[in-house]
Amino acid sequence: MSPNLSKVISEKELHKRIKEMGETLTDKFKNSSVLAVCVLKGSFIFFADLIRLIECDMNCEFLSTSSYGNNSHSSGEVKVTMDINSSVQGRHVLLVEDIIDTGLTMSYLQKMFEIRKPKSITTVTLLHKPEAKKVECKIDLVGFKIPNDFVVGYGLDYQNQYRHLPYIARLENLN
Ligand code: 5GP
Repeated sequence: MSPNLSKVISEKELHKRIKEMGETLTDKFKNSSVLAVCVLKGSFIFFADLIRLIECDMNCEFLSTSSYGNNSHSSGEVKVTMDINSSVQGRHVLLVEDIIDTGLTMSYLQKMFEIRKPKSITTVTLLHKPEAKKVECKIDLVGFKIPNDFVVGYGLDYQNQYRHLPYIARLENLN
């Protein structure tokens, strides 16, 4: 059976919530300089939309992690496959994730950044699956809490498909 898509968050709902998140982060950072870090690949669309709504001094960086390979289940092992180029020491870091599932990736990244002695770390995720939590991680701002289903769209993929969808959909009938 081929996978079936069922819309869970519309384009309109995404834009409304991301605007609110941008306002919250503007309030927090308006007099600061921020190093915004996009956790590739899944957060590239969210990151692009969010940073344009945050009014402050900002540098952008990109890093890449992998824990899923081509599957819909985490391998449980986080690898940083591409690191950022800038120094983090003494800076306000804004870590931007697409989705927090088990918490393994975010917890790993937080530890990795803490060692680099930033002034602060703020973690933001578009989606959060509280029921899937395996490890603790600090989450400062969540776009939407969702059930423990596999979702795609708005940057999130399944086997590198569906990233271009402008909405978030549940992927059903996965093998
Ligand atoms: P965690 O380490 O919290 O288990 O998972 C974080 C990463 O797993 C995310 O950055 C994302 O790449 C991937 N992931 C977790 N849940 C989903 C999901 O429902 N759909 C997709 N496409 N990726 C997911």
